Amino acid sequence: MNRPFNFSAGPAAIPVEVLQQAAAEMLDWHGSGMGVMEMSHRGKEFVLICEAAERDLRKLLAVPENFRILFMQGGGLAENAIVPLNLSRGGHVDFVVTGSWSQKSLKEARRYCTAHVAASNEADHHTRLPRPETWALNPGAAYVHVCTNETIHGVEFHELPDLKTLGCDAPLVIDFSSHVASRPVDWSRVGLAFGGAQKNLGPAGLTLVVVREDLIGHALAVCPSAFDYQTVADNRSMYNTPPTWSIYVAGLTFQWLLEQGGMAAIEQRNVAKAALLYDFIDASDFYVNKVERDCRSRMNIPFFLKDAARNDAFLTGAAARGLLQLRGHKSVGGMRASIYNAMPLAGVQALVDYMREFEKSQA
Ligand SMILES: *Cc1c(COP(=O)(O)O)cnc(C)c1O
Repeated sequence: MNRPFNFSAGPAAIPVEVLQQAAAEMLDWHGSGMGVMEMSHRGKEFVLICEAAERDLRKLLAVPENFRILFMQGGGLAENAIVPLNLSRGGHVDFVVTGSWSQKSLKEARRYCTAHVAASNEADHHTRLPRPETWALNPGAAYVHVCTNETIHGVEFHELPDLKTLGCDAPLVIDFSSHVASRPVDWSRVGLAFGGAQKNLGPAGLTLVVVREDLIGHALAVCPSAFDYQTVADNRSMYNTPPTWSIYVAGLTFQWLLEQGGMAAIEQRNVAKAALLYDFIDASDFYVNKVERDCRSRMNIPFFLKDAARNDAFLTGAAARGLLQLRGHKSVGGMRASIYNAMPLAGVQALVDYMREFEKSQA
């Protein structure tokens, strides 16, 4: 099947095999006579779908038994409130500010607790990451929040910080919305991870939360019941009606990722894809990426034409070649290529070929 290459930051491309299976099962899921969108979430069919999704995700990300997997709603932005409501215990928390998303998280957390900035890369315009050894972590913090891939600025922690080696025993909370399932996760360093599904897992509407069991059960009294991790966990993500369609399609994506060889194989592929684009940009005088090499995102690659007056021509030409949604986020301008798991190497190659040709045409 010949579709354009879609570089959207989210909602984003979904593997074509997943879309085809969802299409084939749209009117009748496994002989049930119903489409997944039409089923009771408590019926035996959907319960099977949901349990399989959870099981496959646990396998895919090697989630240990003492972590609960919660399928929630409200997106990453709702978790910016839900996390402090559940974990802050009315105390103080630490934030590492590395771009727009962690900044948003910080602002929201301050509605519910005292939040300190332990480190920030704002002075560097979010183009490099503050080294963990330099973080000013506060003793007694209820947790430390880090956005491990900043979708807009294109900075990524290639390795998760190890708070214990920094003398900090607070749990690490990671917002992994835009690189979830792009590489393995070292759960020994994590207390809670959250992310919306619409970037790397499937359709919008599903929010994934993976949380260590001992962090559940401490919600503030004002926390809405539907957002209390204890309530969600006790009801196996079915306290309220879950986003059934999104869970189903995400489940198909988990199966697809397992068939592709799982996280180690997927990570290798993502490293190769990103290297192809970064190497081309670095070798060029026409395009530039401003992020330090050791923390460049493998998922979201912002780049700029040195002459911004050519941006519209670049985008028009790209769309004509079947290279879609490359315009950068409005807060940073330029271009952004989001190359999540569903983007094949051939898509990145097609982009690089186009960029080379465009540069020549402008000489
Ligand atoms: C997209 C994104 C969010 C917000 O997700 P919503 O589903 O729109 O709430 C939060 N954090 C990061 C890192 C993101 O990329």
